[in-house]
Amino acid sequence: MKLGPDEVRECPACHVFVRRTTIVSGNTFGMRRFTDGWVETPMLPRQPRIVKCPGCSMCFWLLRSRIVGHVDRDWCTSDAGVPPEWRAAERVCLPDEQDYYRALRNGLANGLSEERDVRIEAWWRSNDPARYPDAHADAPHAGPGEREANLRALIPLLDESESQWLIMKAEALRELSRFDEALALLDRIDEPALRAAAARIRTLCVAREASLKEL
Ligand SMILES: [Zn+2]
Repeated sequence: MKLGPDEVRECPACHVFVRRTTIVSGNTFGMRRFTDGWVETPMLPRQPRIVKCPGCSMCFWLLRSRIVGHVDRDWCTSDAGVPPEWRAAERVCLPDEQDYYRALRNGLANGLSEERDVRIEAWWRSNDPARYPDAHADAPHAGPGEREANLRALIPLLDESESQWLIMKAEALRELSRFDEALALLDRIDEPALRAAAARIRTLCVAREASLKEL
């Protein structure tokens, strides 16, 4: 994996400068895929679309925030002219499950497709304790009630005419133990790239198994 310069941006809420790592290139070695659509690529980490400000804790869409400049990663030796406030900028945080729910209540999503995207992020985070049980043993998480409410709110936002959303909808229904509804949707997936995943989710539905699985 090759990292690029750090990008300095401005938090749209409190206007402090924050920074994030950029990735120039990577590969998919060690990739793991899960039934909820999460793909883990250790050598090419997913770039977050929504980040949390380390200063004021507000969540914002990264690419909509004002870009201030770039800092070379070894600035201490090579970038003597970098403004001190850029150097002092803290790194953006990744929102946790509760952060996404709070952000939705605060109006982060503008329209249904953005609400869908935020709810999918929240869903992935809510599945992390099942995905990485060791790493998340002590991490704070929302309760099952909030997780299920998020899934119930997400389901109508997933457009069944597109295979990528159709399979996610089937998985969301399966994770809510609505197996027969999930099976009916899985029958409609004919996209070759999704066949193997659909077959696996189907098998889990037939077995009345609602927990997250690795594909
Ligand atoms: Zn802020």
